[in-house]
Amino acid sequence: MLDEFIHIPRIAYFSMEIALNSEIPTYSGGLGVLAGDTLRSASDLELPMVAVTLVSRHGYFLQQIDEAGNQHEQADTWDPAQWAKPLTAKVALNIEGQKVWVAGWLYTLEGHMNGRQPVILLDTDLAENRPEDREITHTLYGGDDTNRLKQEMVLGIGGIRLLRAIGFEIRQYHMNEGHSALLALELLRQHAYPQEELRSGESPYDLLHTRELCCFTTHTPVESGHDRFDYSLVHSLMRTTVDEATLKQLAGEDRLNMTQLALNLSEYVNGVAKRHAEVSRSMFPGYRVHAITNGVHPLTWTCASFRKLYDSRLPGWCHEPELLVRADCCLADADVWDAHQQAKGKLIDMVNKRCSVQLDTELPVLGFARRMTAYKRPDLLFADIERLKALAGRWPLQIVLAGKAHPQDEGGKRLIRILHEHMRELAGTLTVAFIPGYDMEIARTMVAGVDVWLNTPLRPLEASGTSGMKAAFNGVPNLSVLDGWWIEGCIEGITGWAVGNSGDTDNNRDVESLYSKLEHHVLPLYYEDRPGWITVMKGAVSKNAAYFNSHRMMRRYATEAYIR
Ligand SMILES: *Cc1c(COP(=O)(O)O)cnc(C)c1O
Repeated sequence: MLDEFIHIPRIAYFSMEIALNSEIPTYSGGLGVLAGDTLRSASDLELPMVAVTLVSRHGYFLQQIDEAGNQHEQADTWDPAQWAKPLTAKVALNIEGQKVWVAGWLYTLEGHMNGRQPVILLDTDLAENRPEDREITHTLYGGDDTNRLKQEMVLGIGGIRLLRAIGFEIRQYHMNEGHSALLALELLRQHAYPQEELRSGESPYDLLHTRELCCFTTHTPVESGHDRFDYSLVHSLMRTTVDEATLKQLAGEDRLNMTQLALNLSEYVNGVAKRHAEVSRSMFPGYRVHAITNGVHPLTWTCASFRKLYDSRLPGWCHEPELLVRADCCLADADVWDAHQQAKGKLIDMVNKRCSVQLDTELPVLGFARRMTAYKRPDLLFADIERLKALAGRWPLQIVLAGKAHPQDEGGKRLIRILHEHMRELAGTLTVAFIPGYDMEIARTMVAGVDVWLNTPLRPLEASGTSGMKAAFNGVPNLSVLDGWWIEGCIEGITGWAVGNSGDTDNNRDVESLYSKLEHHVLPLYYEDRPGWITVMKGAVSKNAAYFNSHRMMRRYATEAYIR
């Protein structure tokens, strides 16, 4: 079963979450979708990788929203046996002085061009484990700090040991975010020189060797996105590791900081957009932080009607998305509009079925969907309800929203309630729909079916953002705050429109800019100059989809991070 994969050395890609397909709920949002797109492109490009993640049998969570706009969470249970094959190897970890066995499932990710990548799903739900240890890998980002550290031990330490037990030869380790940084610590421990070979006082650890094996991608400037654990917890859970002085030197004096650990043990470090790399350099002075701007997987994020159009006019676009630069000249306006109207029809069917509203195909739809959390400012569009009503009176429009809040993010849950209040206030003037249960499938339908994709984060906290890139593959222009990828992707009036200025952090100025762009640029163009509108749609494809794709991203990781 593994022979196909273990005959050549591979890049091991560690990620707490990976969106393998829309029926496997082992992801929460952008980080997991990016991990999935990374592997999908690696498959298409036949880059030898092996991914390691947690099985998360209970998924992240299923979202339900009641009348009042309260989010309710339920387990999103899936059966790994339906999708993956159990591996025979098992490895043991010592957690809190107890032996915890870790097994794995092999999921084979199939590219659309014959490439295949192995994905190992780590699982502690085994008969030989104590009942509480069987639950460690159940819920993605579930539980408290203790459970999180246990999960990160299973991912980092368990993952390394299992890869070795199975017989993989690994040429390079890639930590997708700091959650897996314990893998580097385990490498350091495994490669330590025996005491008898050392002069007195000499460190047994081969720091350089470990660093050469590791690369690290940091994904957010948001503080809570960087795990820190109290050393009291670390000592009670993790007894066998490197010595205390070395640990503190690498991971921080006060608390174990997973980002710092990853930074210190990786030769190559990168942020996920140019601005994010700059912000990361100022957050982590003294480290060299490169920039590899994210991208999305062409085939996965292009709707059926645009796939068909690209196949006929720009054959090969799926393997070489650079070909989409020709979209401006090679696609007929009528075909682009027709492909879009088909995608829009599918979105409207979905919304009308799932939400109790009736959207109108003739009116423009604004889309906003992403994790519901404070810095993403999902309520910015509703900051001045009277102005929004007046705007909708002059230029009718419709809004479709979606997004989950982390179960422990009270601010995010409050935002979902606020959005539902606005929906009620606006009823009769402007149709607003909130689709519950945001996932890959809803994302695919939304990014293709809306007319404008909106993103209004608080600068500089959006590291990259990827949903706007998905929109570009479907000829949907962005209207967004200049942060993350959009600083690189926005050409005013050509690929979409900017909200505010790139250095600004003033809420009110962003609100003003958002309404004014809608009122004076976006909506008039939609209603009064259809050919001009279609030119912007094509600009999104030719200038953004051609560049912000995960094939380009993986070619860069291969030549800059993996081969050094
Ligand atoms: C693409 C995607 C995201 C990330 O969206 P951002 O705009 O980068 O926040 C989150 N969730 C799902 C389901 C996605 O498909």
